[in-house]
Amino acid sequence: MRKKIVAGNWKMNTILQEGISLAQEVRDISGGLQGDVTIIIAPPFIHLTEVKKIIDGSRILLAAQNCSYEDKGAYTGEVSAGMISSAGAGYVIIGHSERRAYFNEDNRMLYKKVCQALDHDLTPIYCCGERLDEREAGTHFGIVKGQISEGVFDLDEENFRKIIIAYEPVWAIGTGVNATPEQAQEMHRFIREVITERYGKGTAEDTTILYGGSCKPSNARSLFSNPDVDGGLIGGASLKADDFAGIINSF
Ligand code: PEP
Repeated sequence: MRKKIVAGNWKMNTILQEGISLAQEVRDISGGLQGDVTIIIAPPFIHLTEVKKIIDGSRILLAAQNCSYEDKGAYTGEVSAGMISSAGAGYVIIGHSERRAYFNEDNRMLYKKVCQALDHDLTPIYCCGERLDEREAGTHFGIVKGQISEGVFDLDEENFRKIIIAYEPVWAIGTGVNATPEQAQEMHRFIREVITERYGKGTAEDTTILYGGSCKPSNARSLFSNPDVDGGLIGGASLKADDFAGIINSF
């Protein structure tokens, strides 16, 4: 079912003690927040169990930033969906543009990760989004359609309905240049049309689609007020509890 969500992606930031402090701050601030927004934080893997203890009993939910496409075995350095689930997380970000660009993750590999996540009762937050050159070439709709159709459209409808989509134009991530509300709405509507073609209108309308890319307290309200934008995946601004709270309060 479609939800309002604000999810914080800490990326490879914070050593454990800093992560614990940040989780405590977010937990304390979240106690005073109104509204029905689902709040998720995605710290580094190594923090998950400690952060879980801190947020237990609060309204904050836990995500990992990635998972292996393998289930278990001789894959040194990998972290499986089952491990993430057993650490108390309920969500996992899959296909972030940094994973695609720096770790060569392609749509078919990401599909296997999505399946692993679902097999272990994790909700995938599946990321898509075009690069600047692709937008300038006018190919952005086709790129995003390809990422979604190759990455998640082999799921049956029941499983597709469990996932969250995050539209994150690469040119907006960490650059300070957010998509305009009009650009975000246009792409989110398009994504809903693509989902409609595959699964029908009911499922498309029920899918939660988040926007990500330089979202901050000063622009979150104008982005979230669009009918097809259901919240945000937040990078830099999720590392400051006050800014993160400001974004959550922007609905
Ligand atoms: C992200 O990495 O998912 C992201 C949206 O980053 P930022 O908010 O820093 O642009």
